[in-house]
Amino acid sequence: MLLTDGLLLDYRRCARRAHLNFYEPLEKQPEKDFLTKLRQESAAHVKYVLENFYPDAQHPHSPEQDFITRARETEQLMEEGVEFISNGNLLFEDSSKGITLLGSPHLLIKVVGDSIWGDWSYISINIQLGRRPKPEYKLIAGYYAYLLSKVQQKLPDHAQIILRRNNHHRVNLSEWLPRMEKALLECLAVLSISQEPEVFISRQHCSLCHWYTHCYYVAQRQKHLSLVPGITPSRYKSLQSLGLSTLDSLAGASTSVLEPVFGTQVVHSLKLQAQSLLEKRAFIKSNYLHPLLLTAPWEFYFDIEAEPEMDLEYLLGVLLVNTKTKELKYYRLLAEDPQQEALIWMQFLKVIDQFPTAPIFHYSEYEPETLKKLAHRYKSPTRLLDALLNRCVDLHRLVTRTVIMPVESYSLKSLANWLGFFWRDPGMSGDQCVCWYDDWLKTRERSLLDSIVRYNEDDCMATFYLKQWLLDFLTDAK
Ligand code: SF4
Repeated sequence: MLLTDGLLLDYRRCARRAHLNFYEPLEKQPEKDFLTKLRQESAAHVKYVLENFYPDAQHPHSPEQDFITRARETEQLMEEGVEFISNGNLLFEDSSKGITLLGSPHLLIKVVGDSIWGDWSYISINIQLGRRPKPEYKLIAGYYAYLLSKVQQKLPDHAQIILRRNNHHRVNLSEWLPRMEKALLECLAVLSISQEPEVFISRQHCSLCHWYTHCYYVAQRQKHLSLVPGITPSRYKSLQSLGLSTLDSLAGASTSVLEPVFGTQVVHSLKLQAQSLLEKRAFIKSNYLHPLLLTAPWEFYFDIEAEPEMDLEYLLGVLLVNTKTKELKYYRLLAEDPQQEALIWMQFLKVIDQFPTAPIFHYSEYEPETLKKLAHRYKSPTRLLDALLNRCVDLHRLVTRTVIMPVESYSLKSLANWLGFFWRDPGMSGDQCVCWYDDWLKTRERSLLDSIVRYNEDDCMATFYLKQWLLDFLTDAK
């Protein structure tokens, strides 16, 4: 069995993904544009760091597929005592167990310390685009250290990660090597049997995964509890230990059995959520009516499209609603070039200032956080920002505080779809908009911008739709 650093990383994120990638029982879905973009940005970052900070690094020349020859070439360079080795291969074959471990650190650096070659040895450096040293980076650093200990017969005393802006992080191997060894054994055990690990749909791990369609189908067929909002992997484990693995069993479970494990509030929410999904109807959780939810003569609905890599807010979409006449007007405040962000910020302030007391509805914390960022960036007065923030109403917060809905996620799309609102371009997403905006900057293909604006307008409309429903629902319940 050949185990690579990529497979171990997959395992760390999801055991099932590692298994499916290893056995490939079905054809993978094509990679999403957003994931391709992330991968390309990450590769460009690695290239930038290597070329600018380690221009003298040497590297093996054989093609990547020929990993055995590449590993031999890497060892040859190490034996020669080369200072820096980029994109080398580390290989360890354990014939007694029938496993081969392969790792490809971005960089190996020569340091003082005896090895099989003399009074020098190597430590690994991994180059990542992230701002923080995530645990998964440290785990892989531990894996490279383990391989180095086999190849050079000397365990490095530390490993390094180079993060964004050339920030160096030192990995403590006395902590991460044992963790990696545990993960490695578990991963090998999972891969040694052909039975797929149980599915668990999690938005964080599954949304960009190329097995999503397959896993989602399996989860739906099994009516898996991971499709219930609020069921985290640890809560799922606890429910399993109580013998609860279906929606019906959760909805009907005794509160006195659940409360000692999860607490009163969580039990109330989970049971109501299961009931809502079973009966396909919404329930009141709390009949709190936010004062700004009550119909005002004019209302704004606000949604932003951003390019995170460029730290750019390129589309401030605002829907103005005259609640008496039901007239709607959508403002697309669009930076066709990144330099226009200041301009659209001024345009936004002007639009919003038409009705200085009208509430501004939005569906996440991102919008007020961005208002703060833009106000700071363009030196808008504090009192202006405070006034804006006081008018903001986060519908996501209000929905999750007050109602339980028969949905698998409390994303705007899930809720609006359940209420009967559908986006004009099905399958479109915020991530896709990021890719299309990048493409627009390169190609100047106007249809890309049109699609982004249409998506943003629909987001604003969906927020409006949801707000109307929430007000009616909470009012009826009074
Ligand atoms: S879709 Fe989710 S559960 Fe399935 S393999 Fe991917 S990450 Fe794992």
